Amino acid sequence: MSKLYIVPTPIGNLEDITLRSIRILQETEMIFAEDTRVTKRLLNHLDIKKPVAPFHAHNEHKTLDRAIDTILSNESTVLVSDAGTPAISDPGFLLVRECIAKGIEIECLPGPVALIPALVSSGFPCDKFVFEGFLPHKKGRQTRLKIIAEETRTAVLYESPHRLIKCLKQIEEFMGENRKVCVAREITKMYEEYKRGTAKEVREYYESKPPKGEIVIVIAGKE
Ligand code: SAM
Repeated sequence: MSKLYIVPTPIGNLEDITLRSIRILQETEMIFAEDTRVTKRLLNHLDIKKPVAPFHAHNEHKTLDRAIDTILSNESTVLVSDAGTPAISDPGFLLVRECIAKGIEIECLPGPVALIPALVSSGFPCDKFVFEGFLPHKKGRQTRLKIIAEETRTAVLYESPHRLIKCLKQIEEFMGENRKVCVAREITKMYEEYKRGTAKEVREYYESKPPKGEIVIVIAGKE
């Protein structure tokens, strides 16, 4: 019986991989990776030697059938992305869907993901929330912002550092300058930072101190 394991990997701090994830990586026959070089670095650190084949966004559709054949020829295959949980703003969803359609067993291990520590540390209600991933860069961006503006649940976005100021300006424009936000930067890394305040305050802070690294924006729901 073939099985696909979805294995989350650290988003910064290498200590964040679980004992079970390490065991599954040790026991599996092969690993599909978003970027084989990134995954080989992690495997070297864990002293694990396994065949690693590429599975990334650019070839996801094209390689789907081939990946399914490989999974069916093994008892256990693992999918990892560069960091965090595969399929969360990363390749993986199509493969999971196809495995389910083909009757292949799936098991997603719990583990690192950027949105959860950002949400919990924001101090905004987290009993209910919406995850928007990356907003579209151009077409459809304003539509998403208008929807988030009316959302009463806490919203979580992924954003790149060079688009942070633009995004905070748009939050001010669509949701008002007093909408509360929390910018979570470099979670689990040496320069981890949480900046909480109104969209205007947080924008002004980052205008004076241009952000570097990886970023999650948490937006308080509409009152
Ligand atoms: N699959 C990943 C996950 O489980 O969170 C997300 C991958 S997505 C391509 C990368 C984005 O996740 C970054 O641009 C940033 O928005 C967010 N992210 C990943 N690691 C982060 C970190 N250490 N601190 C803050 N945000 C992070």
